[in-house]
Amino acid sequence: MTPPFIHQKAMVIMAHPDDPEFFCGGLVAQWAKHGADISYLILTNGNKGSADPAMTPEKLKNIRRTEQRAAAAVLGVKTVTFFNEDDGELTPTLRVRTDVVRELRRFRPDAVIAPDPTTYFWHGRINHPDHRAAGEIAVNALFPAVGNRMYHPEFLADGLTPHTVAHIFLAGTLQADFYVDISDVFDQKVQAILSHASQIPQPEALSDRLREWHRAVDEYGRDVLRESYRRLYIG
Ligand SMILES: [Zn+2]
Repeated sequence: MTPPFIHQKAMVIMAHPDDPEFFCGGLVAQWAKHGADISYLILTNGNKGSADPAMTPEKLKNIRRTEQRAAAAVLGVKTVTFFNEDDGELTPTLRVRTDVVRELRRFRPDAVIAPDPTTYFWHGRINHPDHRAAGEIAVNALFPAVGNRMYHPEFLADGLTPHTVAHIFLAGTLQADFYVDISDVFDQKVQAILSHASQIPQPEALSDRLREWHRAVDEYGRDVLRESYRRLYIG
């Protein structure tokens, strides 16, 4: 039986290459397993994610695009679109929101996953400002811009008519109200994250670290591995 939270066409809007896998790799794998058409939209080029003195931003950008495509393939994601905002400089401007609305009207997903823009602090750490910005850009695009004809009439000539995305899943949230059991796709999530080799200093420790992070007891008292989301509806 197909679980009710499965959506057939979904877009994942995130700040950095590797965010989709860390934030929501399990849910993405579940959807892909049920045949969903999933598209990633990565807003920054990830060009500051290195402490290596020999690395350059330009070189890193290319490495991270290659890693992101490989990770997407592990999870069964069909398309990856990269914007080119500089890492660490993502801001919720009208310009970026407009570009996101264009992608949403083109792909026309049933569901979107994005970071929760209200998460400033996260388990004793500061949430990366780009994650907050990506979440704000996504929710501002989703309501009301993407579904309202008065927004971006210039898109109509290209057939990019208004489109309402009914289901939104906010990841990296402190106000979770929805949980996905990822036990059967956990190894796939680990493999996908390992595709981001430039970002994983201790690959051998990753599986245990993630297992600890995702470990929970479900409503029947069973030990499971799960991801947490805050769900929103539009429509
Ligand atoms: Zn990130």
